[in-house]
Amino acid sequence: MDPQVIIIGAGIAGLTAAGALAEKGHHVLILEKEAQPGGHVAQWDRLFPSRRPGSEVLDHIRKIMDGRVEIKPGIRINGIIAHDQDFTVLTEEGTSYTGQALLIASGFRLFQAERKEEYGYGIYDNVITSAEVETVFKQGKKLLTSKGTLPQRVALIHCVGSRDEKVGNLYCSKVCCVTGVKQAIEIKEQLPQCEVFSFYMDMRMYDRHFEELYFEAQKQWGVQFIRGRLSECSEAPDQSLIIKTEDTLTGRPLRMIVDLVILLVGFVPEPETGKLVEMLGLSTGEDGFILPSDEHYNDNLTTVPGVFLAGAVKGPATISNTIADARAAALQIDSWLKTKP
Ligand code: SF4
Repeated sequence: MDPQVIIIGAGIAGLTAAGALAEKGHHVLILEKEAQPGGHVAQWDRLFPSRRPGSEVLDHIRKIMDGRVEIKPGIRINGIIAHDQDFTVLTEEGTSYTGQALLIASGFRLFQAERKEEYGYGIYDNVITSAEVETVFKQGKKLLTSKGTLPQRVALIHCVGSRDEKVGNLYCSKVCCVTGVKQAIEIKEQLPQCEVFSFYMDMRMYDRHFEELYFEAQKQWGVQFIRGRLSECSEAPDQSLIIKTEDTLTGRPLRMIVDLVILLVGFVPEPETGKLVEMLGLSTGEDGFILPSDEHYNDNLTTVPGVFLAGAVKGPATISNTIADARAAALQIDSWLKTKP
């Protein structure tokens, strides 16, 4: 039986929308490029602001799907044909799938930190990303330096790949401030003797309980927040790192030696989604994320009837916002299928 809805992407948005559509009795197929479903959340240890395990949220969403949704992993799409009443998705594997509605939920990619060459990622072993910190925590390991020692001083760097004209990304990635605060607390939980510094441009703690987490980091854990942007990172002979910033509150340049630098990488559009945009004739904003047909009234619709959007394909979003958005997309698809001639 052909699916009624084809969802591209088995991250949190695709899985949530699939569960909501299955609950309404629709036959749903998810096509996923990776070998495993779950997207970025599957790689994340604990989620902000409550520090609940990411696996708990995924398990909850899987339970709603309850075996009613078919997921095909390892699929690369190389064409989409729009007919009058449906869509046919062609894959590189030579298979094709036809559905009456298409939901693009192919998410985002994390900024490739190598692009900020002056920060030394990929050059110095003790410069790592926030995603790598999550992998260490998820494996239940301790955060160590490249020599296998416990770090005494750690610096977290905000806005890596976001709000940065030099790399062409002017937008804010929304979640890296709070991720940095969460990780700073987690480092202190694990290594109470470690000094943790956070270098930020602005602290964007806009959502519920974010500000409280920021206070907790300062008052309970002694995390030191310094308003300043990293200009350069270099390695000392003992593999510690020399970082140069300017404290933009006092206007004074700052030089500091730390054992580990953690780059809080932002969101960028997923390149594979760019191909879908071309295939379907959709539009993107200057930031490269897909534009909905109306940002206020039709945020889950595109200019192509029957093609819907959910989650971070439209730009950076928290997990809670992504889940709510995916449910909204499912409702839009449900009513569209019911009114379809
Ligand atoms: S959320 Fe914070 S760290 Fe991330 S881009 Fe925005 S201001 Fe920078």
